[in-house]
Amino acid sequence: MHEFKYKNNHLYCENIKIEDLAKKFGTPLYVYSYHTLIDHFFKLKNAFKPVDPLICYSVKANSNLAILKALVDKGAGLDIVSGGELYRAKASGVDAKKIVYASVGKTEEEIEKAIRHGILFFNVESIPELELINKVACRLGAKTNVAIRINPDVEPKTHKYITTGKLTNKFGIDFETARIIFLSNNELPHLDICGIHMHIGSQITDSAPYIAALKKIVKFIGELKKRGINLKYLNIGGGLGIIYNKETPQTAKEFSRKIIPVLKSTGLKIIMEPGRFIAGNSGVLITKVLYMKKTPLKNFIIVDGAMNDLVRPSLYGAYHEILPLYNPAGSKRINIKYDVVGPICESGDFLAKDRAVSKISAGEYLAVMSCGAYGFTMSSNYNSRPRACEALVIKNKAFMIRKRESDKDLIRNEHVPNFLLGF
Ligand SMILES: *Cc1c(COP(=O)(O)O)cnc(C)c1O
Repeated sequence: MHEFKYKNNHLYCENIKIEDLAKKFGTPLYVYSYHTLIDHFFKLKNAFKPVDPLICYSVKANSNLAILKALVDKGAGLDIVSGGELYRAKASGVDAKKIVYASVGKTEEEIEKAIRHGILFFNVESIPELELINKVACRLGAKTNVAIRINPDVEPKTHKYITTGKLTNKFGIDFETARIIFLSNNELPHLDICGIHMHIGSQITDSAPYIAALKKIVKFIGELKKRGINLKYLNIGGGLGIIYNKETPQTAKEFSRKIIPVLKSTGLKIIMEPGRFIAGNSGVLITKVLYMKKTPLKNFIIVDGAMNDLVRPSLYGAYHEILPLYNPAGSKRINIKYDVVGPICESGDFLAKDRAVSKISAGEYLAVMSCGAYGFTMSSNYNSRPRACEALVIKNKAFMIRKRESDKDLIRNEHVPNFLLGF
């Protein structure tokens, strides 16, 4: 369920006509529904109530401070993957003991900042990283919690760029190496290796690989227990898929019903790291039609939003539904198929291909649906396009939560050396 619906032929976000926002804030514009965001958080929280997990929202899905604050206020923790995200997490006011930190390439500086801040634990992805965290903790006179990110070697049946749990991927540690680490814990006196982490990929719509990975891990936890190694945390990652097109992902309820018995059997504190599931359907990208262009072979709708604003179609061939903001009564999808493309100088710059859309003309607006996750956060300034504005809607109120970048922002950090200025 989401809060983007037509009323009197106009697309609304909660109780606000989106076209009014497009006129007020300009386009391209990200619009988020507060209630859709929060509802998805609670959907998961309620579905998993029997194990009372700590839900650490994955910051990289949508890291706007207002989005983080909205979730943190409802009790969410945060899953971070960089020092920059640690900074955002701090700014959101989240309790440090609700932050978990994964990444294959944490720098010494990032590790130090996270230890100083007192995060709940690091999800560690290699032995050299483990040694570095131990060294930094030693220098700071600290003892730090870590969870071992296991690479369970399963095929999650999602796009290969977002598959993370196969042994050919750079993520995590194989079982054999993990066993060695757990059995030699006291060699790293500044670490408490007290958890296991898995995250096998994103946009997973079939629970079988997820369950297969979980079972392998639970078996491993049992083995460790027999050897006298008792863990505290089981972090089951994120990856829950959402509906973009015709996917049929299981609901949070169905998913939880399948895995709760397995989770309970471990007796460990459960951590979850959902990103897309919480933020994905809570946002749309609004773009204005600049030109209708017909070539001998194709029909193009040229819009002011582009791959720099939303890279998912170009990067993953991802499907996003496209709806007109104004859809007058009786206007049906016409039989002509269009490519919806942006102004960027790349043929890979498209938001949709061969799509039948309702009748539309230049000056009108389109909504690219389900852009709340991995939308703005993956945006760039390519072609020197200032990044889009972001707005958050709650009932009949709209707030700008990120100002549109200016031309000045584009060159803000650049320096022309004196020799080029003739000094
Ligand atoms: C990206 C990521 C997530 C979130 O993935 P979603 O598919 O958005 O739920 C969770 N954990 C880790 C370690 C990640 O890298």
